[in-house]
Amino acid sequence: MRLRNIPGSRELIADSQWCIQNPEQWRGHWHQLFENKNPIHIEIGMGKGRFLMTLAGLHPDLNYIGIEKYSSVLLRALQKIEEQPLPNLKFIRMDAETIPEIFAEEEISRIYLNFSDPWPKDRHAKRRLTSMEFLARYDKILTKDGQVEFKTDNVSLFDFSLEQAQAAGWNLWACTRDLHHDDKMMEGNIMTEYEQRFSALGNPIHKLILRREET
Ligand code: SAM
Repeated sequence: MRLRNIPGSRELIADSQWCIQNPEQWRGHWHQLFENKNPIHIEIGMGKGRFLMTLAGLHPDLNYIGIEKYSSVLLRALQKIEEQPLPNLKFIRMDAETIPEIFAEEEISRIYLNFSDPWPKDRHAKRRLTSMEFLARYDKILTKDGQVEFKTDNVSLFDFSLEQAQAAGWNLWACTRDLHHDDKMMEGNIMTEYEQRFSALGNPIHKLILRREET
């Protein structure tokens, strides 16, 4: 998702109390920022942020951080949170490639990846957020019992993600190729903006959950 460039969006983000500036300074100290010891869950590529805002409202006992590469997209989330403040939610504008520079070992309990960009060309495979390269980054920051949750309607990207996870030695904790007709995996499901759009077109939603520990 890349909205047209919005003039002044970088400045608005730099001034926002919801957006963490110089996030590397909090590495190893994110609990101090939230002023509690609650687990921290992140979404990478959060888009306009509806998924995380809904979760943060439902679970005040968890901390959430949304990560988004583009200012023009993040701005939409900032506009929403101004209307509905949530003390347990923060945002970071960054490319997730450098995520181990932002979070220390075992600082994050859960990573959500929702409708990640497919990067269809083979030569761009490393940019996919479920590539082995990204899984290695997640491995560095997740707690031992932490998990990665990934949803998409893109069958090729889902197949690729399963292959990469297996090759990298992750355990497939749960998996469905039709989330909206899987009662167990649908429990507590929060629809993202893309999920709403693609499921309305009749596309089955695929979901997997990965962990490092044995099932
Ligand atoms: N998660 C939202 C949803 O399901 O509605 C948005 C999905 S949109 C297709 C993917 C988003 O991921 C875009 O906003 C894009 O800018 C962001 N993104 C892609 N690669 C990223 C990266 N390496 N780091 C941070 N954000 C990224």
